[in-house]
Amino acid sequence: MKKKLIAGNWKMNGSLAANDALVRALRDGIGQPGCDVAVAVPAPYLAQLQSLVADSPIALAAQDVSVHESGAYTGEVSASMLKDFAVRYTLVGHSERRQYHGETDATIAIKAQRALSVGITPIVCVGETLAERDAGQTEAVVKRQLAAVIHLNGHCISEIVVAYEPVWAIGTGRTASPEQAQQVHAVLRAQLAAATSHADRIPLLYGGSMNAANVAQLLAQPDIDGGLVGGASLKASDFLQIIAAAQ
Ligand code: PEP
Repeated sequence: MKKKLIAGNWKMNGSLAANDALVRALRDGIGQPGCDVAVAVPAPYLAQLQSLVADSPIALAAQDVSVHESGAYTGEVSASMLKDFAVRYTLVGHSERRQYHGETDATIAIKAQRALSVGITPIVCVGETLAERDAGQTEAVVKRQLAAVIHLNGHCISEIVVAYEPVWAIGTGRTASPEQAQQVHAVLRAQLAAATSHADRIPLLYGGSMNAANVAQLLAQPDIDGGLVGGASLKASDFLQIIAAAQ
């Protein structure tokens, strides 16, 4: 059975002191996890985190990557810069990037491509808004979002991670039911299977108010291979409970 992946998304939270305390508590409690673990941290803290997670089972992730390789792009962070800090994964297309920064499917595909070109695994986020769900468009929306990254030049789709994050469940305390999540994951798996014979290898994460109380039921679904965890990744005891449930 493939290992599950639990990735924390700290969003724009943290400080040198808070990061230090959080990661030390994670390291103290994590033992030898039976799943893969990553934390996606704000870019200014990559150097700090690289040293804090060294020789631990915690992998480093970024929250975004530039579409550009280098040059006059003020404020941007390139894939090769992330690589300098031993970043293993980067989120691309998080709904907060789509919503507040106007990221399109095409932009997200380039970002995924940039990450792959330096050996960083993109965690491609897809998910429908509440209005789209209510209009019966969930399947069409996530299929369109996934289709944008399914044929990345020179790379096999099996090199990516996909996170299904219904926008209405992110940071709202309103989780998709295990059945709702599984239904969408099955759609995504079928779409991947049509593109590659390695679809089973691609981790499909669920994200959206995942917590210690709901994680077991979500991870019990056949096509849920892990979680992308926002709020609950900021408290060591909560995140450790989620990791423990993913063995
Ligand atoms: C996220 O930011 O990807 C997320 C899932 O957040 P939360 O767990 O807080 O809903």
